[in-house]
Amino acid sequence: MAIGDFHLHSTASDGVQRPTWVVERAAANGVRVLALTDHDTTEGLPEAAAAAARLGLRLIPGVEVSTDLGPADVHLLGFGFDPEARELQEFFRWQREGRRTRVEKIVSILREHGMVIETQRVLEIAGEATVGRPHVARALVEKGYVASVKEAFDLWLGNGKPADVNREKLSPEDAIAMVHRHGGVVVIAHPVFIGGEYVETVRQLTAWGADGLETYYKHYGPELVTAHEALAGELGLARSGGSDYHGLGNPDDRDIGDIPFPDERVEEFVRFLEDRCAVPEYGVKR
Ligand SMILES: [Zn+2]
Ligand SMILES: [Zn+2]
Repeated sequence: MAIGDFHLHSTASDGVQRPTWVVERAAANGVRVLALTDHDTTEGLPEAAAAAARLGLRLIPGVEVSTDLGPADVHLLGFGFDPEARELQEFFRWQREGRRTRVEKIVSILREHGMVIETQRVLEIAGEATVGRPHVARALVEKGYVASVKEAFDLWLGNGKPADVNREKLSPEDAIAMVHRHGGVVVIAHPVFIGGEYVETVRQLTAWGADGLETYYKHYGPELVTAHEALAGELGLARSGGSDYHGLGNPDDRDIGDIPFPDERVEEFVRFLEDRCAVPEYGVKR
């Protein structure tokens, strides 16, 4: 188990457990420093911060921003920014509105295919979370149109499937600049999920100002870790690590802190955050 985990989701976006639960689980697993990185929202941070303070853990302000690079979906992790910055909060709201519009489009396509679900029901399922495809999938399961969330993605919602609708585009370059403007750093999340020639994409993102590479990710084995360590070294990127915890269910899922992130590398990453970030710990502004 690692002492740091810098990629975690809660019910503030598409995770299955509340921020308090996530922090308590992290503590139980021996994690000392963590970042809650919900999709396009920091709404889980105050609750997570209260739990972290109670348990003596260090919480880094975090977020995961979805951006588009041509056909690729590039996820960027922001750390150590000022979570109260107005421009950031307005931007997150804009991203979430985009998701809602997207859900409306998906629902209308599904209707054309004879599957009648209501946008309102999808929003109810999402609750406080940032609404997205997983919530549409659950509405489809609920109505019995598909047997499982996985089947909903495989048949209808996944990339290239009939009800695959793109969000309004956000360039990684703009997202990086915005996090920087508010005192944070940007780490390229799960690079291999970018697909294709991901090494080239990582180079491009670095040229645009990305500061780090998610090197110790979830199920990565020694070969991938070594390749990412070398790439980060070559490009001068900081090395982060995280479980991308949403809940356990898929074979590749890992528990909070169950990642190949050596203690000395965690400490190195924390020093990097301290050197570079305006808010290296939630509630501690510099
Ligand atoms: Zn992601
Ligand atoms: Zn994630």
